[in-house]
Amino acid sequence: MLWKTGRRSQNIEDRRGLSVSRGIGGGGLGILLLVLASVFFDIDPRIVMQGTEILSGSSESQQTRIQPIPEGQEEAKEFTAVILADTEDAWKTIFSEQLNEDYKEPTLVLFSRAVQSACGFAQAAMGPFYCPRDQKVYIDLSFFEDLNKLGASGDFAQAYVIAHEIGHHIQTLLGISDKVIAESAHLNKRQQNALSVQQELQADCFAGVWANNAQRARNILERGDIEEGLNAASAMGDDRLQKRAQGYIVPESFTHGSSEQRVRWFKKGLVSGKISDCNTFKTNKL
Ligand SMILES: [Zn+2]
Repeated sequence: MLWKTGRRSQNIEDRRGLSVSRGIGGGGLGILLLVLASVFFDIDPRIVMQGTEILSGSSESQQTRIQPIPEGQEEAKEFTAVILADTEDAWKTIFSEQLNEDYKEPTLVLFSRAVQSACGFAQAAMGPFYCPRDQKVYIDLSFFEDLNKLGASGDFAQAYVIAHEIGHHIQTLLGISDKVIAESAHLNKRQQNALSVQQELQADCFAGVWANNAQRARNILERGDIEEGLNAASAMGDDRLQKRAQGYIVPESFTHGSSEQRVRWFKKGLVSGKISDCNTFKTNKL
């Protein structure tokens, strides 16, 4: 990607080095959250609800420690600030052209190890996530190294991850996140998973819509970038991740969609560039 000369977003909150951990009485809840979030990437509505319950608990104690800021992340931080700025420029245009509305920019929080969000306590192992309650994206930059280990290398793979989380912000601005959370409360686990897949694939499609605009308006892509993005979408399919983690696949436990689905929806947004082509909640082929 041609990113180095790009604008840096100001909407970054750097909380690296501030390590939050659950104190006595709260440790079990952190573990519970981790178990619930066994999916590598992202957060789902059930966790959002769990987070609310946890936050409303009164006997919480929380410890904040100052830790050294992880080394060697300067370039990743710069890159993240540029991609965030690009999503701001892109979605501002897209909202204005396609919806005749103003785009409200989210904040991106950098953290290391663990973080407290309005959706609850989260550990880096859960991967990047978006919290609709505070409209912030949370990312531990060491996740980019994990991406490499998954076989999703390249700067555009990293940009895709950020753009996917911004996709959840778009869903929040459009009122979709609230609907999913409300509907999820009445569903059994299998149905919740199916709904989560629809929500996640839409975020992939929105990431594609961003890439379409970024390329047309600012020409930031280089040869091989699209392949990196598609490869990342594929590497983070539930089937691939499950096979890697446990050696077999349980389709009804999918929360993000298969590799094939993630690639297809990202591509759909990329080719069309239109929000209206990303309706994963009403489609003949998910
Ligand atoms: Zn997601």
